[in-house]
Amino acid sequence: LPAQRQLAQQFGVNRSTIVTALNDLQADGVLISAHGNGTRVASNTWSLALDWHHYLDGQFNANLPTIQTINRLENENYLRLSTGELAPELFPQKLVQAKLRAITPQVTQLNYLEPLGALNLRQALVKRLQHWQIDVQPENILITSGSLQALELISVALLKPGATIYTEAATYLNSLQVFQSAAATLTGIPQDDAGLCYWQLPASTTTQQLLYTIPSFQNPTGSVMTQQRRHDLLQFAEKHQLPIIEDTAYQDLWLETPPPLPLKALDRAGNVLYLGTISKVLAPGLRLGWIVGPTAVIRRLSDVKMQTDYGASSLAQQLLAALLADSAYDDYLTELRQQLRQRRDAALASLKDYLADVATWQVPRGGFYIWLKLKPTINMEQLFQAALKRHILFNPGSIYGADHALRLSFAYASPAAFRRGIAELAELIKRA
Ligand code: PMP
Repeated sequence: LPAQRQLAQQFGVNRSTIVTALNDLQADGVLISAHGNGTRVASNTWSLALDWHHYLDGQFNANLPTIQTINRLENENYLRLSTGELAPELFPQKLVQAKLRAITPQVTQLNYLEPLGALNLRQALVKRLQHWQIDVQPENILITSGSLQALELISVALLKPGATIYTEAATYLNSLQVFQSAAATLTGIPQDDAGLCYWQLPASTTTQQLLYTIPSFQNPTGSVMTQQRRHDLLQFAEKHQLPIIEDTAYQDLWLETPPPLPLKALDRAGNVLYLGTISKVLAPGLRLGWIVGPTAVIRRLSDVKMQTDYGASSLAQQLLAALLADSAYDDYLTELRQQLRQRRDAALASLKDYLADVATWQVPRGGFYIWLKLKPTINMEQLFQAALKRHILFNPGSIYGADHALRLSFAYASPAAFRRGIAELAELIKRA
């Protein structure tokens, strides 16, 4: 930091310019940084150095600079007000350790698995899906390396360039990057109190089209689509032959009563590809998700998955199969909901104490997020930068195309840290 400040002063530029320049030089291999060893000039012969810049703009989009900053700083000592992950202290360490020990004798080999993923895991998921009134067979399920990969597989295996993807107007950011990188055209559809305003979807087009929705405890708004809206949306989709990706990442994390049945449970015509993940309820590091759909689609997706990564980690799959088969996992979920409810209520109390006069919000009934709508017009990017200076990270609404909003998460920061962060944010907002 002192060196960066000194350089910034010396060149008469912002410190962030210096940080960007240093990152670029590192990416080019000119500078080498090692933890605890500082940064030094690489010993390459400069005149021979390959100019990788001709290769740095391949087909996949670069991330939004704000997200790159957040990703980079999350593991430094920043107060994380928006992180979409469970706090480490919520992780069921003992349960996971016990299951790891229990599966050890079975893990005598770690070969590639069958194309759809471990059968015992798919069987465990079949049972769990029945709780949501989804009646499928193991061959309707493909295990993926997280549900983000599910979106990637769908994009490259089912869609042709130029396909149109409809999403909620503010939605999960990485999904947009994946869709766009597959050359899809994106269109945001507004939501009202009952959920996605499906009647704003065009009735038919000649190109491929698909709807991506997060009906329960949406990211980033926390909203829930009502049961009636789910029925109506499905009817519309059936009538207009519209495929739907239903992302259920937060579905199990209700804090009061369970959300309405998933679209997949109501899906008679096979329009819905249902995505699940273990990332939000347990551990994103396991990198496990699943797609549920018609067998022809699942086979196509699994064929592409085999060609691109040969399956998700077999060890992680065995661990999850063992966890899902044990009722101790359900006890953990019950306890987790209890913990999240307390964190949500503490977060709401902090908002009421510090932000009631400058912002409005809905009480989320599940998931991780509170979507804060600011009353005054504030430059979100400037607010983000001002918060960074105080070592506070949050997701500004501008990255979701919503200039007067920001996403908060009560799942990661402790209630005390969250309160501290909100007090500081309130000060910055009032000053701005
Ligand atoms: N869908 C939604 C709505 C999410 O919020 C996230 C994570 N932020 C994911 C999918 C991706 O999760 P993963 O790839 O870890 O399963």
